[in-house]
Amino acid sequence: AIDSNEVRQMFCAVSRRMIDMEPYLTEIDNRVGDGDHGIGMKIGFLQVEKVLSAGRYDTVNQVFREIGYTLLKVMGGASGVLFGTMFVSGLVGMEEKKQFTMEDFACLFQKSAEALTRRGKAGIGDKTMMDALIPAAGAMKEALDLPLEEGFQKVAKAAEAGMEYTKECVAAFGRARYYKDKAKGFQDAGATSVYLIFQTMADWIV
Ligand code: ADP
Ligand code: MG
Ligand code: MG
Repeated sequence: AIDSNEVRQMFCAVSRRMIDMEPYLTEIDNRVGDGDHGIGMKIGFLQVEKVLSAGRYDTVNQVFREIGYTLLKVMGGASGVLFGTMFVSGLVGMEEKKQFTMEDFACLFQKSAEALTRRGKAGIGDKTMMDALIPAAGAMKEALDLPLEEGFQKVAKAAEAGMEYTKECVAAFGRARYYKDKAKGFQDAGATSVYLIFQTMADWIV
């Protein structure tokens, strides 16, 4: 299990990674989107890093609530809602916990994937962040008996495969849908962000 202070530190590392990846995410969103994804994520995670660095949290739930509401507040736009929702919607109805096991992570991200599907209507193959998030949440459920570090390696691998899969897809949502077949061969920016988040979580744990 991992406690609230560790999850806080983990997401300071995630924030740093997302900030540093701004040029890369901008380049990807330039290919098949409107090019603002990297900047949006950077603005969001600069604030998350700032808030988490100074924060003290009793429960892991509080850390996720802080991340999600910070993204919702400062990012704006479609992806502010999407990525904010990814962190807060899974908390609904969940009891407050000082530590999280893989089962807790699985429960959180499974519920948030469902909430995002209801809200955004995108499923597997629509070339969105869901192509990385849905398999990552699925991998968590299959990693319940593994040590956390091994489990998160699997989760990151599943997210990476989902991100790679978006290269084959034609977008059904967002700006990318206007590119139709021209988007083929290029990966989705939001799926790339989801992969980077889970990969950094995995890297932090080992
Ligand atoms: P915007 O599309 O407003 O410019 P961003 O560029 O920050 O916002 O984010 C775009 C990303 O949002 C896409 O790469 C895709 O992964 C994700 N996305 C767009 N629409 C949806 C949707 N309906 N459901 C889930 N994810 C979506
Ligand atoms: Mg964009
Ligand atoms: Mg935009």
